[in-house]
Amino acid sequence: MLNTFRLAVEPRLSHLAAWKPFQWTVAGTFWCVFVSWGYQNLVVSGLGGTWLRPGLATGIMMAVVLAGPILGFLAFKLRELAIANKHLGVVASTDSLTACLNRGSFHEKIDEQLGEATRASRPLKGALLIIDADHFKTINDTYGHDEGDEALRIIAAQIRGQVRKGDLVGRLGGEEFGVFLPGASQENALAVAERVRRAISDMSFRPRGVRHPLSVSVGGVSFEDQLGFVELYRIADRRLYQAKNGGRNRIELTHIQAYSSSDAAPLH
Ligand code: GH3
Ligand code: MG
Ligand code: MG
Repeated sequence: MLNTFRLAVEPRLSHLAAWKPFQWTVAGTFWCVFVSWGYQNLVVSGLGGTWLRPGLATGIMMAVVLAGPILGFLAFKLRELAIANKHLGVVASTDSLTACLNRGSFHEKIDEQLGEATRASRPLKGALLIIDADHFKTINDTYGHDEGDEALRIIAAQIRGQVRKGDLVGRLGGEEFGVFLPGASQENALAVAERVRRAISDMSFRPRGVRHPLSVSVGGVSFEDQLGFVELYRIADRRLYQAKNGGRNRIELTHIQAYSSSDAAPLH
């Protein structure tokens, strides 16, 4: 479990590269040497020729000897702090069982993207899929909660494996996941939903050595209108309800060109 979490978290820390403190230390030391050299040039040159060379050499050496280690120490400490901060942010926004985004963070990131597109007057287009494991309670009841947790990790990994970089995958609660596909058309959304459904039903889940089939139902909405997460979720949830009622292990998608509140009215 720790490995899944690390794999999901570490790429998000990669921009805090280890060489950056060196870069800052070298740049800072050069700056101190430059200031010291300028100051010595102005002050010591007034004292006469014999003092100029040793004065300059002392000034530069002091700048290197003092500024280098102090700046190096501070730069490394600042990097440690930035990593710890980033780690805290990632942990707070990640579901610890599946390493997907948690519901709050998934919601926030989607609204952020939709808001940015509106502010930049970019056309709003994309899709939200809600993926719910079928008859999941049976897994817990038959094999126990730990095997249920393992099934959730398998499902999450399969979902993540079917989306592109830049798409968002979140655990919305229990055995329900969300996938946000920015820029996706109706066809793209259907293709991703089908890949996810198939990947999960092809998985070999063997609690206590017995093969137990996994399947998911998917409800989704592709959109080309100004909508927020809450409306999208309501519309997709309505489709999920239809997918469950239609026999499970299936996909129900709708396309919204111009939103009307009846699109999101609950069916149950
Ligand atoms: P449906 O096909 O209608 O979705 O049936 P279902 O059994 O999947 O749905 P239901 O809502 O009846 O049950 C969901 C189950 O998911 C019950 C709950 O114990 C289980 N569950 C929720 N969160 C977790 C979790 O973190 N770990 C485990 N092992 N089980 C969980
Ligand atoms: Mg379920
Ligand atoms: Mg559910």
